[in-house]
This record gives sequence, structure tokens and C-alpha cells, in this order.
Amino acid sequence: MIDIEALEFHYPQGEFSLSIPHMVVAQGEKVAVIGPSGSGKTTLLNLIAGISKPHQGKVAVADQTVSSLSDAKRRDFRITRIGFVFQDFELLDYLNVLDNILHPYRITHALNLNSEVPQRAIALADELGIGDKLKRFSAELSQGEKQRAAICRALLPQPQLILADEPTGNLDPRNKGRILDLLFENVASSNATLLAVTHDHELLPRFDRVIDFLDFRNEAVA
Ligand code: ADP
Ligand code: MG
Repeated sequence: MIDIEALEFHYPQGEFSLSIPHMVVAQGEKVAVIGPSGSGKTTLLNLIAGISKPHQGKVAVADQTVSSLSDAKRRDFRITRIGFVFQDFELLDYLNVLDNILHPYRITHALNLNSEVPQRAIALADELGIGDKLKRFSAELSQGEKQRAAICRALLPQPQLILADEPTGNLDPRNKGRILDLLFENVASSNATLLAVTHDHELLPRFDRVIDFLDFRNEAVA
């Protein structure tokens, strides 16, 4: 599902650079990504999602080489095929929760907003415990509620790949387990692939595999 070869990336400003010689995630795999703050975990998710482009190397998702698509095609590919739970949620503050969750459907014709979609959105929000917050704006939500709204938005199009950047980072222990259960259930029911950055080491046994960013550092230095 994800195939990275000889990836090299750096930001226009700053010292940071990321080198990933080789990384493969199989379809249906549930993989945790760990590593110290600032090691490039969010940068990697942005590269996989096609938000950033590598300077060298290849990033392929589901046999599509995202790194060679045009900007417009990369964007459509991301919206339709990848569910991204951003570390800082990226909810639009001028939309209520329901409209935020439906937003991907409104910005691309590749997703079809038929009458069944809002019903699924409401059911998903109920499952995630924010069913009573659908009319609220993001400024009126707690961090944990924002996070759950961001998860709903990512899951609604039933993407083949879910990229989640610390999806349980703002949740209390009880909600943490529940949200992870729901993420895993949704992933399993659509046979999707999950790549989740996490700092919760107690959650790691729930994943098939762990990718540790320290390994990339070592290979980059070697
Ligand atoms: P992590 O998610 O592992 O905490 P990030 O991928 O967010 O790490 O950041 C990796 C490094 O890249 C950090 O040193 C960060 O300061 C730097 N960085 C992140 N975004 C940018 C940017 N837009 N421009 C320049 N440097 C950035
Ligand atoms: Mg990060």
C-alpha cells in the first residue's frame, strides 16, 4: 500500500532533512510510527499524502506514484484515497462540526455527496461520542472533541489508507482506547491500511508492527 524508495527531503528553510532508503507497508497492515519530537514523523505523513514532494526518490501509494503526480492530481488522490487525521486537526473554524466532516465531499467531484453520506456522518459522530456537537463550531470544542471530529472527517470517505498523526494525543485514557477501537474497526471493515504516529507506548501492542524513526537516523548516518 505504501512503497518508499530512496526518499530525500528537506525544507527550504532550516537544517532538517529526512532520508528514507526503503519503507514498505503492506495493504491491511496496521503500523505505528514512533520517534522523538522533531524527528520527521509529520513530515513523513505529509510526503506519503502528497502534501509535500520529495526532492529525490519515490513515494507510491496503492500503485500510484504520488511523488510524480501534478499538484491537482495529488490533491484529488489524497482527498479520495487517503484519510488524514492531522496533528493539529485542521478543522475549518467557519464551519460547524457536521460541515467540517462533510467538507472533503464538497471540495472534489471525485467524492459523491449523496443523501446517504450525511446519515453515515451522523452515525460516525455518534459512535465517536460527538453526535451532540454537530452544530458547534470548532472554537466551541475541547481538544479531544476536535480530534474526534478530525477522525470522523478522515474516516467518512472510507479511504484505503488512513494516516493518523497522534490521533489519541488529546484524549483521556478511557476515550483513547475507544477511539483506537473505532479506528481499528473502520480499518478492518474496509480492509484499509493504517499508519499512525503515536507517543502512547502502551498502545503499541495493538499494531502489527512499529516503525521507529531512530532507525532512519542511523541509516542516514551510516
Ligand atoms: P515530528 O512530527 O516528528 O515531531 P516534524 O516532521 O513536524 O517532526 O518536523 C521535523 C523537523 O522539521 C523539525 O525540526 C521541524 O522544526 C522541521 N520543520 C517542520 N515543518 C517545517 C517547515 N514548514 N519549514 C521548515 N522546517 C520545518
Ligand atoms: Mg508531528
